[in-house]
Amino acid sequence: MNQHASRAAQLSADLLEIEDAYLWDATAALRTSVELERRAAELGDDLLLHRARLCQVNMLMRNGDLAGAARRIWQIHHWAVDHDATPLRARTHLVWANIHRFLGDAAQCLEHSVLAVELLDEQATAHMQIWHRAKLADSLGLSGSMADARLRYAQAEELSREFAQPHLLVGMLNNYAYTEYLYGDYERAQQVAGKLRAVAAEYGFELDPAALDTIGAIEIENGRYAEAEQTLLNGIERHRDGRHEDADALAEYLLTLARAQRGLGATDRAQASLDASRALCVERELNDVLVRVHQEQAELHAVRGEFAEAYAAHKVFFSAYHSLHSAQREAQARTRQAMFETAEARQEAERFREQARRDPLTGLRNRRYVDEQLPSLVDSDPGLTLALVDLDHFKQINDQLSHDVGDQVLIQVAKLLETELAAVAPDGFAARLGGEEFLLALPGTGTPSAVAALEEIRRAVASYPWDVLADGLTVTVSIGVASRREAAGLTQAELLSAADRNLYTAKRAGRDRVVTGTARAGRIRPYRDSASAA
Ligand code: GH3
Ligand code: MG
Ligand code: MG
Repeated sequence: MNQHASRAAQLSADLLEIEDAYLWDATAALRTSVELERRAAELGDDLLLHRARLCQVNMLMRNGDLAGAARRIWQIHHWAVDHDATPLRARTHLVWANIHRFLGDAAQCLEHSVLAVELLDEQATAHMQIWHRAKLADSLGLSGSMADARLRYAQAEELSREFAQPHLLVGMLNNYAYTEYLYGDYERAQQVAGKLRAVAAEYGFELDPAALDTIGAIEIENGRYAEAEQTLLNGIERHRDGRHEDADALAEYLLTLARAQRGLGATDRAQASLDASRALCVERELNDVLVRVHQEQAELHAVRGEFAEAYAAHKVFFSAYHSLHSAQREAQARTRQAMFETAEARQEAERFREQARRDPLTGLRNRRYVDEQLPSLVDSDPGLTLALVDLDHFKQINDQLSHDVGDQVLIQVAKLLETELAAVAPDGFAARLGGEEFLLALPGTGTPSAVAALEEIRRAVASYPWDVLADGLTVTVSIGVASRREAAGLTQAELLSAADRNLYTAKRAGRDRVVTGTARAGRIRPYRDSASAA
């Protein structure tokens, strides 16, 4: 390796240390990444330069400069898109998702989290594979899609074990427990907390005070006050001899401790903990913790039967709550405005939304788009026909040729589906549901003409000159159809199940065919979830 190349490799490794870290000292990491940018500029390496800049943006955000972070991220994003720097794009969207999370914008946070996962490719590091999925799970939970969130947490957990990344495993379980807690499923939260403790013990990690605070809060919700008090005292002790934490963390832990002690009926201990928390809040101007201190004070008075005091404390809480929230809302609005002050930024946001509903490999619509669009289509169109298209013996193509040829086949099949469909059902759409399975929606076509069109599509695939991709290659598809005209009153799930059943019949009958037919009464196979193939 020449000297230039070895310096670039060293710089890349130094960057990776920041990029794939689980925890940072943001101020120190900011300084380091400025230095790394300087080294990249000296080498004249634009990719390394932009990676260093993204590290800076991440640290700016973590230091609370959201507007500064948001303004700089555009330039990195443009560069990464123009230069097909896919891992950098994926990382950029993850940082962006976090900016929106801090701004309290759950929808934008989710858009970017989805892209951060969809852009993972074989260049993505193990850390990215795990952590981007874990953060997508957080975002899904934050926007109320708990079932989807659980699926992603499960993937992240499995990958953490597969790639032997115990820190990420503990980190994601911590987030998972907290998400279940926020969602209000305290029983499940307790299970996850149990797993978190078990995993930490297995790998010899001490849980950090923040994790113990989460566990304590969960124990409180489950009425396990004595355990909670112990957990929180433990966390506070660890905080005192630790160095790793935010100024407001201790006030927060003391407040949770007060709640546990109130639950135990130990009102004197609760009052002492609450007073300690309040003193920290006043000293450090921690207004959002202070609001909850007032609230807890009202509860504590009430438990002691001091109703006049409880009422007074509640009034203080109420007015502090409202002034805090209007101040926060104003600050968030200002930051958002700074982020979206240009027309270009607005257009980009629109494009992300569009992009998040496309499959990156084929450019077709994805499952997310289907989930959003299909219900209203099913409701409004009595002539709707749905078709599930599955490649025949696709595994053999991957195994006998290569995964890359497999990808090329998927791309070409997608193109054929899209052009053929546009000719017969211009208002319809083609989507990739996952793996080698596609959905076609043909609005207003009615069964006979839809089946003829699908037969045409099947023929178009079978007769395409596949040997341009690989010698002797042939590709066929099986298609299962379900139409609302045939079976009025079927729900979306039933329509999809009927199409799935017909697909299965087509496979058993020898593949390369279209099967239609009324949904039989009886057992309906559930709509398969192939999200794990994403
Ligand atoms: P059948 O005719 O019964 O449908 O057989 P099949 O081999 O097509 O079905 P199976 O479900 O067993 O295999 C699907 C294969 O698709 C397995 C998986 O490796 C492959 N696959 C899924 N997603 C992708 C992808 O994005 N790219 C490539 N190249 N292969 C994929
Ligand atoms: Mg198949
Ligand atoms: Mg399949």
